[in-house]
Amino acid sequence: MLTGRMMDFPLTLTHLVERARTFFGKTEIVSTMPDKTQRRSTYAEFTSRAARLGRALKRLGVGPGDRVATLAFNHQRHLEAYFGIPCIGAVVHTLNLRLHPTELAYIARHAEDVVVLCDEALLPLWDKLKSDVPSVRALVVFRSSEAPLPEGALDYDAIVAAEDDAFDFPAIDENAAAMLCYTSGTTGNPKGVLYSHRSTVLHAIMALAADNLGICGDDVVLPVVPMFHAAAWGLPFASVASGAKMVFNGPHFEPATLLDLMARERVTFAGGVPTIWIGILAALDAEPKRWDLSSMRTMVIGGSAAPPSLIEGFATRHGLEVTHAWGMTETNPLGTLARLKRHLRDASPKEQLYVRASQGYAVAFVEQRHTDDTGKILPWDAQSMGELEVRGPWVAKSYYGDEGKDRFTSDGWFKTGDVVTICPEGYVRITDRSKDVVKSGGEWISSVALENALMSHPAVLEAAVFAARHPKWDERPVAAIVVKPGAKVTEAELAQALEGRFAKYWMPDKYLFVEQIPRTSTGKFLKSRLRELYGDVLV
Ligand code: ADP
Repeated sequence: MLTGRMMDFPLTLTHLVERARTFFGKTEIVSTMPDKTQRRSTYAEFTSRAARLGRALKRLGVGPGDRVATLAFNHQRHLEAYFGIPCIGAVVHTLNLRLHPTELAYIARHAEDVVVLCDEALLPLWDKLKSDVPSVRALVVFRSSEAPLPEGALDYDAIVAAEDDAFDFPAIDENAAAMLCYTSGTTGNPKGVLYSHRSTVLHAIMALAADNLGICGDDVVLPVVPMFHAAAWGLPFASVASGAKMVFNGPHFEPATLLDLMARERVTFAGGVPTIWIGILAALDAEPKRWDLSSMRTMVIGGSAAPPSLIEGFATRHGLEVTHAWGMTETNPLGTLARLKRHLRDASPKEQLYVRASQGYAVAFVEQRHTDDTGKILPWDAQSMGELEVRGPWVAKSYYGDEGKDRFTSDGWFKTGDVVTICPEGYVRITDRSKDVVKSGGEWISSVALENALMSHPAVLEAAVFAARHPKWDERPVAAIVVKPGAKVTEAELAQALEGRFAKYWMPDKYLFVEQIPRTSTGKFLKSRLRELYGDVLV
């Protein structure tokens, strides 16, 4: 081999934070505090504090590879942890504050966290699990009031202020671990995914590409997706890489508060799961003139399927563009993105919507395929349904620990657990997560397709289709429906709205009108809970 004559320069987060300090000191960072006031800061302050945090952690005995946990909402101090921890060679481990204390204790024990950085408001949660996590040597609090600290705890701002901000990060191998995120464990115990500096940096650079998220220095980025959910989809890293202004919503997720923030800070780019955007669209529909969102460039929706009616509603009623993307904790997370290819710009609006509402095709350096139960690779014919598999430089090659070995194929692919079709153009369409697919008399029924159709009904705010037990067919689809405030719709009207759009055997056997669809810890519809609650409605 004739070796190339280029430098072997490590892809590490230290470069990103140093670059941000050198070039983007004046860029703003806005954090929403628990009392809804805004705290305004700059990259100069953030980078200086990230360096100080690293030094303070070393003083607490944190060494290379040690896991330092965060239990926090989205805000600047969490961003400091995103960089300050990995830049001393340690690993930032984001704990999901919506999990049950027993689950959290399992995760923190599994990770063997040595220090925890915790929001003051979440101290009662930490209290519930701390005795089960013996590895933790220090509790550091992100304070938001004058309330006294718990005994033995440290004040984050005080330990940071006590250090100087010299940038003397150690040289770090690009393959060293930088961040640990656990899957939510809807199937079995949560599993840890250990991102490296290299995978995180490559993922950030990919997000900057105009073909992907196109994040750039002109952007004002609001990650509504929590920083404990798959690294807030890498948005903090991409923003810092480009010097984009960052806006954080703290513990506030109500549509009106988010919309106020978007309008006031002139947000250009926001990201979150569909349930967030369903609420935002309903608020905009109710008061179309209240918020000026003319600055918004795009809103990335992922985490579960974005219904076409949502994408269309934003576009036609409010002139807002949605980017639909697919990913997983195991894929850092961005894997595929529904970009309209050039030649499809001439397609009819209906066809374009069909494409935009798909999960898209793999971004550069991620590869996709789907296979049947026997592992046979399926054709891209838009018909054959199989499990999506991916591989690439920011896809996990194993979990942290021994779990989940069966998710990795012998030829180097990761089995996603998503059931998909792929069209000849390469667009992936998720029909279900394998655990949510409705298996009726040996046939598979796509709950996602039914939900999308139901959510296009003007009276329907949310719809989740789940498998109910059936004496004859094993399982049959049942739809849980949340009606829009003030609207009315009957079971018969919903059935009629689906008629002719699906094979007869796909039609839900029953419609249940509910107050709210139960949510997972990351805001997705929780089908397993629906099955627990209503799984026997047909027997
Ligand atoms: P969990 O849902 O278990 O908390 P993740 O956030 O990693 O963990 O979820 C990944 C899963 O989310 C994917 O396997 C897929 O089922 C689902 N998902 C992500 N993005 C999309 C999307 N755009 N459309 C449909 N499903 C999606």
